[in-house]
Amino acid sequence: MTGRFAPSPSGRMHLGNIYTALAAWLCARKSGGSFLLRIEDLDPMRCPRNFAEQIFSDLEWLGITWDNFPVPFQSERTAIYEKYYELLKNEGLVYPCFCSRAQLHVADAPHASDGRVVYAGTCRHLTVEEIRKKEKQRRPAARLILPEEEVRFTDGHFGSQAFNLARDWGDIIIRRSDGVFAYQLAVTIDDGLLGVTQVVRGWDLLSSSAPQIYLFRLLGFDTPRYLHLPLLITEDGARLAKRDKAADVGFLRSQLPGPEPLVGYIAYLLGQIDKPEAMTATELLPLFDDKKIPGHDIVIPGNYWEHL
Ligand code: GLU
Repeated sequence: MTGRFAPSPSGRMHLGNIYTALAAWLCARKSGGSFLLRIEDLDPMRCPRNFAEQIFSDLEWLGITWDNFPVPFQSERTAIYEKYYELLKNEGLVYPCFCSRAQLHVADAPHASDGRVVYAGTCRHLTVEEIRKKEKQRRPAARLILPEEEVRFTDGHFGSQAFNLARDWGDIIIRRSDGVFAYQLAVTIDDGLLGVTQVVRGWDLLSSSAPQIYLFRLLGFDTPRYLHLPLLITEDGARLAKRDKAADVGFLRSQLPGPEPLVGYIAYLLGQIDKPEAMTATELLPLFDDKKIPGHDIVIPGNYWEHL
């Protein structure tokens, strides 16, 4: 069993990030597996290097240990992604897309059940001549053709899942017009090459598992098992965000004598103990049972940290 945590360092981690990290670590360690860390800093503009250093420091403070050194940074793995990208291109599965953001979001664009715009395939059948003409005006993104195919898998928490690639996703961008490789491609290559067998993350990425499973198969990797977690939400029902100061790990570290009250609070959120109680990650490990994780999103009161 090999688990992983793959944060995007676009800011200091917040309560939701460390809740995911701790859950992923517990799932991996509970089964005696290894645990890997990977920094998903694909977009160099959004991910300054110092946030990754903060992530290492915050995870160490929490008592979350990982087994891979040095930790891979996606920004340094472009040559690897390029190789797989060429492979897909040579298979004739990739085409240039010139659509602007405005064109993609026209009123009658098809939508998936979660509100995402599903690409209508506008650029799929451009002729060589049309491509040449459009290239003079705009750098294209690259899309991967997703077939009319159902992807089924059993999520370790949310149970049986089925997504139709064409209907729920449409052809996905695997390389942006500025040349940066897209999340769906990089995450699959990395999980595949690092030998990840268990992916634990928030359920906002549940539907992403479908194109990822398709890509794992296409690129010849084994598919990992998935366990998606309920999300942490505010009292207004919004997702906990980086701007919520009370959820910022820097703020929490400045308020707390050590990580134990926070680990105990997350253990409580994960349904492992009946009331928050200070403990270390190592003390929580023998108690952990993924079957006790709640089935619904978890509301975090605004003043929660005052009671830690
Ligand atoms: N880098 C993604 C994030 O921080 C997580 C990707 C994943 O777990 O697959 O939201």
